[in-house]
Amino acid sequence: MERVYNFSAGPSMLPLEVLEKAQAEMLCYGESGMSVMEMSHRSKDFMDILASAESSLRKLMNIPDNYKVLFMQGGASTQFAAVPLNLLSEHKCADYIVSGQFSKKAATEAKKYADVAIAASSGGASPAFSTVPETTRSDFRPDADYVHICFNNTIYGTKFHYIPDTGNIPLVADMSSCILSEPVDVSKFALIYAGAQKNVAPAGVTIVIIRNDLIGNAAPETPAMLDYKLMAENDSMYNTPPCWCIYIAKLVFDWLLSIGGLEEMKRRNEKKASLLYDYLDSQQYYTANVDRKCRSMMNVVFFTGDADLDAKFAKEAAAAGLKNLKGHRSVGGMRASIYNCMPYEGVEKLVEFMKQFAKDNPKLAL
Ligand code: PMP
Repeated sequence: MERVYNFSAGPSMLPLEVLEKAQAEMLCYGESGMSVMEMSHRSKDFMDILASAESSLRKLMNIPDNYKVLFMQGGASTQFAAVPLNLLSEHKCADYIVSGQFSKKAATEAKKYADVAIAASSGGASPAFSTVPETTRSDFRPDADYVHICFNNTIYGTKFHYIPDTGNIPLVADMSSCILSEPVDVSKFALIYAGAQKNVAPAGVTIVIIRNDLIGNAAPETPAMLDYKLMAENDSMYNTPPCWCIYIAKLVFDWLLSIGGLEEMKRRNEKKASLLYDYLDSQQYYTANVDRKCRSMMNVVFFTGDADLDAKFAKEAAAAGLKNLKGHRSVGGMRASIYNCMPYEGVEKLVEFMKQFAKDNPKLAL
């Protein structure tokens, strides 16, 4: 069976070179005589993998020295609770910008611990969440312990086109679906978190990048596994970490460094996204209803305007080796997730398919 172009929103494609290296090292890693899956997390081999993963990530993202990198578990959804548990002060106030389903879920989880205010929402846009709210400092409560955003909205295909100015209030960003897709100025954020299964590794590890001064204030009831201080003190080895995921993450980070880092990754991602958006803008068969300035480089949502045709599109595309193009159940239509490891040729094939599908399936109203 040939490998396909997998447009899944996550887990998603990994670099072929990484899969091949992992395959070559599967039975015997280095001189260890065993697979990374079988080795003790306290062994020198694994400790080296972990240290190398961290140092490559620091290099890639240019992470300042006053930030700690943690490899945690439980996915991004677990961070929806970990963030308030660790960052609330005695005010217990947190402001959320709601720009899609995941930021809404994050706010709902935080309500268990905090007085949560929705500082801004694009839920009332038409269609809902087709844009990202514009904010200014005055939208945030001066005593908020942090402001939370979701930087790329996987389901709706939008992305923050600016970094909100929160003054002295720590800014927390869920970057699950855009981490490592382009350079970001880490120093503008107090905390960045991301589940791995889009641009980093298989599902199972969650990256947390946190400014040192925010570590050490966890609420007493915080589970040990969610306490950033405990995780930081133990170099993410408070318990057995997801060793295999961290190993693949290290390979992916090294692959990114080998191609020229995040500037090069951005160039490739822009080229892919432009190919698709330029086509969408050049015709009338498909519609893309996201505010242009907020278009995601990672998730591209489009519609034929007819649910039956959308279903036919996804089915026939899959048969042609273009898999997982069905839109999220809450939005419908199609979603092409073109993360870091989707090759340019995959997007070329998709655009060719879209053109042919439009020819073969004329809409009566047009
Ligand atoms: N945030 C964003 C932006 C996501 O795309 C996802 C998952 N698709 C999540 C959070 C939830 O992640 P997890 O499944 O790792 O909990």
